[in-house]
Amino acid sequence: MKAAIIRAHGGPDVVEVAEVPDPQPGPGEVVLKVLCAGLNHLDIWVRQGRPGTSLSGSHVLGSDAVGVVAAVGEDVRTPKVGDEVIVNPGLSCGHCEFCARGDHSVCSDFGILGLSRAGTFAEYVVVPACNLYPTPGHLNAEQAGTLTLACLTAWRMLMTRGRVTCGECILIHGIGGGAALYALQLAKLIGAEVIVTSSSDEKLGSATQLGADHTINYKRQDVVECVRDVTDGRGVDLVIDSVGAATWPIDFAVVRRGGRIVTCGVTTGPIAETNLQALYWNHLTICGSTMGSAEDFRQMLRAVTVNKLAPVVDKTYALEGVGEAMARMESGRQFGKIALKVTE
Ligand SMILES: [Zn+2]
Repeated sequence: MKAAIIRAHGGPDVVEVAEVPDPQPGPGEVVLKVLCAGLNHLDIWVRQGRPGTSLSGSHVLGSDAVGVVAAVGEDVRTPKVGDEVIVNPGLSCGHCEFCARGDHSVCSDFGILGLSRAGTFAEYVVVPACNLYPTPGHLNAEQAGTLTLACLTAWRMLMTRGRVTCGECILIHGIGGGAALYALQLAKLIGAEVIVTSSSDEKLGSATQLGADHTINYKRQDVVECVRDVTDGRGVDLVIDSVGAATWPIDFAVVRRGGRIVTCGVTTGPIAETNLQALYWNHLTICGSTMGSAEDFRQMLRAVTVNKLAPVVDKTYALEGVGEAMARMESGRQFGKIALKVTE
């Protein structure tokens, strides 16, 4: 089969589309014929070899996908051959203390498809059957193929960790990225007030069309001052941060007394100073969040289905265009998810 692989860590030039052996399903596993796969920042980190990523031989990239079941291994009851499904890329052991209580993304052996095993940027991928869910009927292949990792991440940040409620005010940094955009869409579904930031007026305009209540261009405007203006000096209830080092000090300056900061990513770097006095004096809560549990996934999928939430797809490439697609993501020019159309 054809697959987008790396044989060594490095820049965009280490990615190649090559012929590799067709994967075979083990017990409890399913072979999917991939229709469409979605890019995430994780793909770039795996390619670059950030800490936590290791490589033995060639490795197939990619975490998100929609596909059709082509074959099933032993002991698989559902799905059946021919079913169209989407992938929850979170891999958990199923029997540790954390899995036993349903906290699958806290699993002591947590992994991600495309990071800890062969990924979705291929004609076929093998996935545990318990990671597959029926595709919501209102989504096209590009939307379904780019939904899961980022929307699950946004769901857990907002709902499970951030415990957002109707009428609360939320700040979302860096609108345009997958998790940030899904966070905006989900927050508007439940009736929160949303402030978004970007360096691009075009992206801020698009965010307004998706329901953002207030926009801040951080190149021209002071984020802290603008948030104070919008909230009459009170601050926001919740900050959703996937940016990291660059926005961490801002989070503490804009959150209200007793407010929450949830972080899920560090696109500008992982090391930042924390003012512990601000933390305890203002009764703040800091939460880390990575992807989500099976229950988070089920709830996210219900919310997407019932509300016919439409994922924003920035651009679609053929599998052979994977290098160009990754370059677009690294440049930060995208608004929404980038898709790879693998088969028609
Ligand atoms: Zn586990």
